[in-house]
Amino acid sequence: MKITYPHMGEVYIAVKGMFDDLGIKSIIAPFTTENILKIGAQESPEYVCLPFKITLGNYIKSLEAGADTVVITGSCGPCRFGYYGPLQKEILKDMGYDVDFIIIDPPKEGVPKFINNIKKLSGGKGIKALKALYNAYNVCVEIDKLNEIQYYVRPRTKDKTIVNNIMYNFRKKVLDTNGTSDIISLIKITYEKLLALPIDNNIEPVKIGIIGEIYTIIEPFSNLNVEEKLGNMGAHVHRSMTIKGWAENNLIKPMTARKSYKAEKTLAKPYIPFLIGVHTQQCIGHAINYSLQKYDGLVQIYPMTCMPEIVSRTILSQVEKDYNIPILYLVVDELTGESGYQTRLEAFYDYVKYRRTKILYS
Ligand code: SF4
Repeated sequence: MKITYPHMGEVYIAVKGMFDDLGIKSIIAPFTTENILKIGAQESPEYVCLPFKITLGNYIKSLEAGADTVVITGSCGPCRFGYYGPLQKEILKDMGYDVDFIIIDPPKEGVPKFINNIKKLSGGKGIKALKALYNAYNVCVEIDKLNEIQYYVRPRTKDKTIVNNIMYNFRKKVLDTNGTSDIISLIKITYEKLLALPIDNNIEPVKIGIIGEIYTIIEPFSNLNVEEKLGNMGAHVHRSMTIKGWAENNLIKPMTARKSYKAEKTLAKPYIPFLIGVHTQQCIGHAINYSLQKYDGLVQIYPMTCMPEIVSRTILSQVEKDYNIPILYLVVDELTGESGYQTRLEAFYDYVKYRRTKILYS
């Protein structure tokens, strides 16, 4: 079995580590490019959301490199994600690929089923599989710390290209590691490098929170590297959803009978008191939480035709007024042009900066 999985930001790092620990070889697709998206989009239904097209492109590249099994998580929530695996499998079969899909439903769909799936994937090594899963979670914890450091350092250091190069090299070097402990060592070396850079602690950058649809805020290709772009301009960014957060809320909490996204759901309740699919409530909760933490602005990113985030978008207009926080709305698909996107980010950054200065000195 030669396993592959889709790219979604740092997910490949934790998943590769987990499979390495289990002695299972991963075939990691090349990082997504315009061409890979084009290949995926050509084979996808026109109006399906962007993550479907990108991940299909990832699978095609992995299958060309020799993978025969795709591993993804499943979902039965009221959005298209639950159809991704079955539909992508059919498309790939029509294209002539002999591929198997292992779709792992999260524990909220049944803890014994989840554990059985993990056991199956690891060839029945029950305890070893749970240990590898736990190690992969620790990788996610370290990745979150690394991101927090880069968010802090980038706006406060003069030469931002050094930060960007350190992060770029890290993502490439991970491909040569073997196992979670190797990865954690590499992460620690990387944050030492970032922390060694000269920074000006007197700089008080504007703070911008990134909210929206989970895939498009985590996968840098799909959001045209929004974190790096805003950081290069001088903003301290923070991303509301991370793979560690996803793992805690979708794997750990359901297994220990605790409630997922409790704080976000409570904050969102006056606007949307029930679950309508995926992360709508969380998006609203994150927006409110960032404004309570005195962030200067928010950027909501979501794919065109994404039903849950279109609902969030509508509600956020009211949150913007109620909490007096500016929000930039970015809709992404395969036709999104980089220069228009960059201009909108620059204009938003300038506005948020000007607005803060005005508030401070009024
Ligand atoms: S949340 Fe939106 S983008 Fe993500 S799978 Fe569902 S419909 Fe598609």
